[in-house]
This record gives sequence, structure tokens and C-alpha cells, in this order.
Amino acid sequence: MGSPLPPPMSRDASHTRGFRRAHWSRREFLRNSANSALGLTGIALLPGCDDATAPVAPAAPGGPPEVRRYSTLGRSGVRIPDISFGGWGLDGDERLVRHALERGISHFDTAGGYAEGRSERTLGRALAGDRPRVTLATKVVAKADATRDAIMGALESSLRRLGTDYVDVYFNHAVNDIARIRNPEWLEFVALAKRQGKIRASGMSGHSGRLTECVDAAIDDDHTDVFLLAHNYANEPGFWGSAQRFKDRFTGGFDFVAYQPELPRLMRRAREADLGVMVMKTRRGARYNDLSDHVVPGGSEAQAAFRWVLSNSDVHGLVVTMDKPEVIDEYLGASGARTASLADTERLVAYEARNSGWLCQPGCAACTDACPASVDVAGTLRTRMYAQDYGRPEIARTEYAALGAPAAACLGCRSSACVGACPAGIDIPRLARRTHRALG
Ligand code: SF4
Ligand code: SF4
Repeated sequence: MGSPLPPPMSRDASHTRGFRRAHWSRREFLRNSANSALGLTGIALLPGCDDATAPVAPAAPGGPPEVRRYSTLGRSGVRIPDISFGGWGLDGDERLVRHALERGISHFDTAGGYAEGRSERTLGRALAGDRPRVTLATKVVAKADATRDAIMGALESSLRRLGTDYVDVYFNHAVNDIARIRNPEWLEFVALAKRQGKIRASGMSGHSGRLTECVDAAIDDDHTDVFLLAHNYANEPGFWGSAQRFKDRFTGGFDFVAYQPELPRLMRRAREADLGVMVMKTRRGARYNDLSDHVVPGGSEAQAAFRWVLSNSDVHGLVVTMDKPEVIDEYLGASGARTASLADTERLVAYEARNSGWLCQPGCAACTDACPASVDVAGTLRTRMYAQDYGRPEIARTEYAALGAPAAACLGCRSSACVGACPAGIDIPRLARRTHRALG
């Protein structure tokens, strides 16, 4: 891959067309789902920003799905599609990456730890020769005591695996402690890596119970250019307001809680500070649940979930794990969305009513203080989601081990302190023990 930093990319509809290929196949019901859903009466959400008025490429009638909107991650200048390729489970499938590129997906997100480096290697091979057309983000878990040289070593290993000499965004990954983004060695690393042209922008990704306080601190400090935040309809107070009319019908009065009422405010704050805002975990672990009755003409549950987050004008785009060509095509049915329809809301409420009993909310910390052993319940249940809902037990084991197998403490626990601590009604002791037995 080439050495000079490219200018900030400016992609429009004509650039998008450059990715097009004649061949494609997908399920008929998804053919024009974005068009039909966008044509429904939408729920207008947050007021517009510059990207809310960015041009949306018209869908080619009967053509393959493709990216329909791009935007710029604030002051970083990094241009991204509204739906980006998540390389979390990527392990050798270069054709999948090429398929995404052909559909106009020009931003690829990975981490040094994904598939023990094989995700980065796969991207490096698949995108060789296309570096100027794409933007890349990768991640490192730089702890509060990490040294500048150790972080630089991790970045250089990532660059070798990716076959490039720079990445567009380098994230401090899964930040759950303000000390990690205030570590002077991390800040020195960021300044040096930028000077050396090895990174264009610094980032913070997070899905922990301390997400909002870490985002607040990062905005205050002004050393972070881009955020990648766990966010979905269920932690958005606006969703439950607009969903009120469906609530009783689908839930029998189940008392939903918006777990991160602060997050929309912080995303607005980040946008006002000209920072990039990307979101992940937008589907609430839905991929491998039985969603057949949520798939209807006009869209799938995934598209509904994506339209919900994309309708927030403070969100530049989302990252989602892509594991099959048909999944990519399904996902792109939501590209270009600026509203979530009433039908989308109905679909998401129905999904929530069925699944909320075991889906731990990213960023929630409501049970954090309940456990006398300080078990990382949210982290434990996130790895449960990877194993059971995403169908990737091997990755889940690695991540559970990286957390230090926290739920080992639950096996012999005689305390009932966490029982009833979850506002969503999750049976914490049962799920935590199960997770440890499966992954510990
Ligand atoms: S079962 Fe016991 S150790 Fe585990 S989270 Fe609950 S209180 Fe903590
Ligand atoms: S188990 Fe419940 S209270 Fe605890 S982090 Fe998850 S959603 Fe929040």
C-alpha cells in the first residue's frame, strides 16, 4: 500500500458508482427496502447538522444495494460511509471484504486483537492496491499504565498486518476508565504517531458501564478526534417516547428503561466540538436470534435498528460486523436513512419484548455497585452475547479471559446482592454462572 497520506476523501454519488459491479444476488424482499421504508411516514428525530443535508445517492432501480451516504468525521477529515465494515469476526475471507468494497463500503474497522491479528491480515490482503480508496481504523487496549513505546509497538504491528504505513483512526479500545485516556504516555504516543504520519486521528471506543463519564472527560480534554460508542435504540430515551403507542400492545406494560439517557447529550456535545461520532452494538445482539417474524417487505430488524441510529443527526455512521455477502446486502438496505418509520419502531419494540430478558445493555452500569465482589457483570454478559447471539464462542472465550474471567466469583457466591439489581429484569447470577461455565 502507498505511503503518502491521502487528502481527506470526498466521496459522492459518482464516486460510489465507481465501486459498482454488474453481478449481485440477494433476497427479493430486500431489493428496495430502503426506498420503501424511507417512503413511509417517518419519525423525525433530532434536528439536522451539516451531514443531515448531505446528498443521498438515488438507488438504482432494481440494482444492487450500495452505500447511499458518506460523511466526514468532524475535524479528523476522515470520510466514511454511513454503514462501515466491522472486522470483528473476520478471519481469512477476503472475498467478503471485496464484496463490501464493491458495494461502496469504503471504511473498514478492525483491531489488533480481532482473531489474534488475522482480521487485520485479511483486510491487508483484500485491500492491497486499494489503500487510497479506503479508510482504515484499528484499535489497541492501552491501559492506564501503558508506555508510549509499547503502544507504538502495537500500532506498528497492526500496520505490518494491514500492509500499510498509516491508519486513519487509531482507537484506544473498550475504554472503561478515564485514567486510560489521560495516561500521559497515551497522549505522547498520539502526538508522536500523528507527527510521524502513522495515524490521522485518535479515537476512543467504549461499551462499558463508565462509557458516559469517559466520553465527557474525553471531550473536556480535547485529545480525542473520533468516538466509537455502543449505542442502539434501547438506550435512547427518544425511542421509548416515540414507541409509547406500541408499548402496551407488545409488552403488556413491561417497564422499559432508557439505560443511557446521557449518551444523546454527549453525542451532541461531541458533534458541536467538531468530533467524529460512530456507533456500534446497534442491533442488541440480534444476529442469531430467531427473527423470521421480524422480516417483512420494507425491511428487516437489522435495517430498522440501523435506521434508528442513522436518524440521529449527531451520528456520522455505524460499524457492524459483516460475515456474509447477503448480510452486507441486507444491511445496505438501510444506507441513506434519515428517519425511522413507524413500522421500524414496531419491529424493534417487538424484538425487545421478546429478548430483553437476557440482553445486557452496553454502557449500563445499574448493577455495578450491587456486587460485593465487584464482578464486571456487563463485561461478562457482553461475552455471553458474543458466544450465544453472535455464534462466536472462540472469540468470546478470548475476550472473557482478557477480562480476567470475572464471573468465577459467582460460582461460589452465597450473596443475593445482585438479584433484582438489573432494571431490565436480567437474572444476573444465573447468566453470569452460565457464562463462566461456558467460557471460563
Ligand atoms: S452472583 Fe454474587 S459474585 Fe456474582 S455478580 Fe451476583 S453478587 Fe456478585
Ligand atoms: S445486567 Fe442489567 S443492570 Fe447490569 S449492566 Fe446489564 S443491563 Fe445493566
